[in-house]
Amino acid sequence: MTDILAKAFNSADFEETGLSLIRFLSNTFEQADNRVVLPYKTPEEQYEYWKEDFGQPGSPIHLFKDVVEKSILYHHPHYMGHQTAVPALPAVLSSLVIDFLSNGMGVYEVGMIGNTMERVVCEHLCQKFGLGEQSGGFVTSGGTLGTLTAILTAKAHYMYHQSTEAADKDKLCIITSEQSHYCVQRAAVTMGISEDRLIKIPVDNTWRIRIDLLKDAYQKALNQGKKVFCIIACAPSTSTGTYDNLEEIGAFCQAENIWFHVDGAHGASAIFSEKYQHLVKGIEYADSIVMDFHKMMLTPGISTAVLFKNRSYAFDTFRQEAEYLWEKQDFEWQHGGKSTFECTKSMTILKVYTLFKQFGDKIFGDFVDYQYDLTKEFARLIEENPQFETAHQPDSNILCFRYINCENPNEFNAQLRQKLILTGEFYIVQTTLNGNVYLRVTLLNPRTTLIHIQNLIKSISQIAELLQ
Ligand SMILES: *Cc1c(COP(=O)(O)O)cnc(C)c1O
Repeated sequence: MTDILAKAFNSADFEETGLSLIRFLSNTFEQADNRVVLPYKTPEEQYEYWKEDFGQPGSPIHLFKDVVEKSILYHHPHYMGHQTAVPALPAVLSSLVIDFLSNGMGVYEVGMIGNTMERVVCEHLCQKFGLGEQSGGFVTSGGTLGTLTAILTAKAHYMYHQSTEAADKDKLCIITSEQSHYCVQRAAVTMGISEDRLIKIPVDNTWRIRIDLLKDAYQKALNQGKKVFCIIACAPSTSTGTYDNLEEIGAFCQAENIWFHVDGAHGASAIFSEKYQHLVKGIEYADSIVMDFHKMMLTPGISTAVLFKNRSYAFDTFRQEAEYLWEKQDFEWQHGGKSTFECTKSMTILKVYTLFKQFGDKIFGDFVDYQYDLTKEFARLIEENPQFETAHQPDSNILCFRYINCENPNEFNAQLRQKLILTGEFYIVQTTLNGNVYLRVTLLNPRTTLIHIQNLIKSISQIAELLQ
């Protein structure tokens, strides 16, 4: 071994750096309130800094500290931005084990534990959702890939089991809500489904898909000779966090024999809450469900369950054989690469497995209860304050609201947000609903309390007064 290689494989260095890294991260977590959430620098400033940094040799520990100090900190109680989970600390440690082993999951021998854990966790989830005896699933890297995988499966299933004509491929149609996540559109485009064959149904004044219009659109598509192979519902939608009526849509899909996909990337975990599981009533109708562990399940990114009512369909999707990897045989769960897009895949399942093992289902139920309750409190504070209005009643932990004591609310709220996040004190995002700009929060941090929310409202009001 050369000196350099010996240094890269030195266990004493690893232990020393590792221990000081863990101490540093613990301290960052403890002291989160004492720093800004977002130490913002422009892209040009970052580029200059890291270009210079890259050219200078340095120790890993200095680099790690620098990265953490210069990054947005999700563990800060004032982080209320995008939907990515604030990772629970035991799950962060799982990441280290995953990367130490770095086991791929394509074939069984290298992915023995990962593939088996995926099966165990997915069976547990399928049972929770009431998907029945034939159900099963696996994990993909993210909800976008998970959605593509599920819709590809719906299509493969339709072509294989229902359609006898090759020409039908050009008539395939998907129906979804106009509020569905853009990954649905991206999946459709990737699959060669043209824009006119992705039918988007308007929502009602509570932001739920209009089921009467959905049924009309389905009938119209049939009359035009289109082949609707999949209907997609939100559990919940991304912008407002609103759950579609899964029960009614599911029953319709079952009656018409159409694949029912539930995009539960954000909030399928409501199933773990006694108080809020009514929001996913009807999810048992789903032919497929996508559920991100790295949104509402306290898990570091990225790790997503793709679940199927009939697990054998999942393996129709990627039937192209690579015989050096697998002997010719029917679906076997132990070879992850056979059912997913990915070949080498990280064993991310260990992250959520760690939380299930240490805390059981209850941690996820407690988390949903806490965040959904707190968001309702947030909405109440906004509604009591004449300077603000909400865009919707929150179903989940997402709330859109805006400042209205001003001339031009769209421009004003966009400016407000910009000023607010540049202070570094809070991080929230914005969205546009029916052409109006709203401030948008997602409450994901168990350390965020009503006091932090009151602080946020106060800060926004103060900035608004300065802006007037
Ligand atoms: C986040 C999200 C997705 C996409 O998932 P990624 O893991 O970010 O790829 C899809 N649908 C909904 C409703 C989401 O909230």
